[in-house]
Amino acid sequence: MKKAEEVRKKLVYSRKNFWQDTTKNEQKIALKFSEGYKRFLTHCKTERESIAHIVSELRNKAFVDIDEPGVKPTRFVYRVFKNKALAIGVIGKENMRKGINIVASHIDSPRVDLKQSPLHEDKETKLGIMKTHYYGGIKKYQWMSTPLALHGVVIKNDGSKINICIGESDNEPIFIMPDLLPHLSKNEQANKTMSEFIKAGQMNVIFNSVPLTEEKEDITEAVKLQALHLLYDKYGITEEDFLSAELQLVPAGKARDSGLDKSMVAGYGQDDRVCVYTSFHAILDVKDIDIDKTSVVFFFDKEEVGSDSVGGATSVFIEDFIADLLRIKQEEFNAYSLRKTLINSCVISADVNAAINPNFPSVHEPQNAVHLGYGVGICKYTGSGGKSASNDATSEFMARIVKIFNEEKVNWQIGNLGKVDEGGGGTVAKFLAKHGCDVIDIGPGLIGMHSLYELSSKADIYSTYKAYKAFFVKA
Ligand code: MN
Ligand code: MN
Repeated sequence: MKKAEEVRKKLVYSRKNFWQDTTKNEQKIALKFSEGYKRFLTHCKTERESIAHIVSELRNKAFVDIDEPGVKPTRFVYRVFKNKALAIGVIGKENMRKGINIVASHIDSPRVDLKQSPLHEDKETKLGIMKTHYYGGIKKYQWMSTPLALHGVVIKNDGSKINICIGESDNEPIFIMPDLLPHLSKNEQANKTMSEFIKAGQMNVIFNSVPLTEEKEDITEAVKLQALHLLYDKYGITEEDFLSAELQLVPAGKARDSGLDKSMVAGYGQDDRVCVYTSFHAILDVKDIDIDKTSVVFFFDKEEVGSDSVGGATSVFIEDFIADLLRIKQEEFNAYSLRKTLINSCVISADVNAAINPNFPSVHEPQNAVHLGYGVGICKYTGSGGKSASNDATSEFMARIVKIFNEEKVNWQIGNLGKVDEGGGGTVAKFLAKHGCDVIDIGPGLIGMHSLYELSSKADIYSTYKAYKAFFVKA
């Protein structure tokens, strides 16, 4: 018996529960860390809001916009790319060609966008509605009959930008895409599959209901006209301006503590803003530590729809920013140097994983899945089926990362997304691997990913921050 215990202790891998494995003091720090995180989730529900918030924090911490005319770049720089992606660099002493450390996450989340020409008056009901087009992998039914807020920007013809945010404070209205009452769902919904019982065309927001009035006149589309009138009054926009707008419906309200013990966070957009927040705070801390290597953080757009487009992880944005870091550091910055810098670099693809959901245990394989509260997940490969479209990190790189996490006492665990052949998903890992660098997927588990209230553990959020920081310091 004694021998069995000895062997177990020495040879068996077991994930450790953060709340049992750490000191009370560290747990206090973890809980406090999540307070800032909840505020971030509450105030940053779109890519642009996230970028604006992070940039203002960066400027407070003396980071310099790499593109600001006349400004002399320092060791601490950032670049906003087309208002849709962001890179932050802390330049180290060592020659960048020996490799740098990069943490890459994404700031876009699944949501429901307004269509290009969204406003419509329903003929029968005389209600003003907004037509939508969903973005990313959503379960459509979750978005029906739930309070939504409208966030976004309108760029007018003269180039001026109107910020819009309706539905977040108590005195503002929220918006509803009404679901069908159960009494009349028999034919429309009850016997249909999940992908059919809510159609994209049924995801219309009721926008307004009072018609524009004029004495004795019967006005056609009076409700639509009244909506345009109100919008012009408040924002100075016309129907044509919708064409150059990005307006997103997102769950209204704050990110909240969840669970009796307040050990968890429930909130929208944690895929992948939990990795954005934790990697951002990791690089802010690195600024004040004397380390040799250069540290870089990327926040990409469009991960939820394949990472294409200008702000996505397939964009030339990556090479462009690294090349500028070489230039600022006054190293050689030709194509050869840039390639070598990237090839010798280490990358964490920072994205969330699927923690075991006790309501649906059958889709997970517990031994290889992320357990909520057991630390940050290390994922060798994502993808689906036979690891299709995955990066599959090398064993050499895995070993280095695990060694660093053990040395720095990071609570980590093995994490694969679901049972084999149960489904799957990808990250930006493979797009970064294209540059020849070592890439590994590391991030916390969420329960109910892509839902309106994703659930995370404060233990895992803090462990993720610790993991990224340890990576910057030691990789
Ligand atoms: Mn993600
Ligand atoms: Mn996602």
